[in-house]
Amino acid sequence: PCMIPKDHPRYESLMMRERIVEGYKMGITVLQGLIAHGRGEMFDYVLGEKSHDFALKAEKVAVALMMLSKRPVISVNGNTAVLVPEEISELSKLLNAPLEVNVFHFSKERVDRIKKYLERFGAEVLANCDAELNGLSHGRRIVDRRGIYVADTVLVPLEDGDRCEILKKHGKKVIAIDLNPLSRTAMMADVTIVDNIVRAIPNMIKFAKKLRDASREELEEIVKNYDNRKTLRLALETIRDNLTKIAEEKLRDI
Ligand code: ATP
Ligand code: MG
Repeated sequence: PCMIPKDHPRYESLMMRERIVEGYKMGITVLQGLIAHGRGEMFDYVLGEKSHDFALKAEKVAVALMMLSKRPVISVNGNTAVLVPEEISELSKLLNAPLEVNVFHFSKERVDRIKKYLERFGAEVLANCDAELNGLSHGRRIVDRRGIYVADTVLVPLEDGDRCEILKKHGKKVIAIDLNPLSRTAMMADVTIVDNIVRAIPNMIKFAKKLRDASREELEEIVKNYDNRKTLRLALETIRDNLTKIAEEKLRDI
């Protein structure tokens, strides 16, 4: 039972925390996931907690790239499963990209709990854990033979840097959702969406609906000339400008 009043100025942010804490009680999120969420919150705060143009652009490119791919897969960890279960399932159906449960802190029981939780929302959820990605020692090496193992493009919300690197080495295109433009994941991905996952996935759903009838040529046009370094630069400049503005304007009035 959540006691956060709707008119609380930090309502949205506190609700996300509640969901992650609930997820912990259900055995879906882990304590480390709570800390990772806190790091994301900090970056969201200095970005102004909104989807900037550079994020919307990356979200659109990501959708087009998934639509152009032969075997796109959406990787889901504990935090993603509790923050956007319904939305990620809808995106999965729209893009014809199965969900695959993939966690850093691995146990078969935890993977099965996440799978069950997601299946309530009607998407196909892979969680067979019957293949391994060479070069990784932690739980995220364990993948499904029908999913990430053979995928050409992987959408990895809240990814860990190590695995992003390995996915790239295995020749896959990587789309990351990461509020920290400085993380190794953000730097290494082909497309980095610097936005909160709770806004990014609904935005991607809108783009997927808009582009549903687009031709291959139109999709290729969207993906062509996309420059991820520019996205990261714009994200960093936005943080810098926000902080400058706050230092110059807000502090004057207190
Ligand atoms: P890397 O290993 O890539 O250098 P990291 O070690 O800093 O990254 P991890 O703990 O591996 O971070 O992954 C968590 C990442 O997810 C963090 O960079 C954090 O900013 C981001 N993150 C957390 N919550 C959200 C959210 N709700 N939306 C988007 N990004 C988030
Ligand atoms: Mg990491």
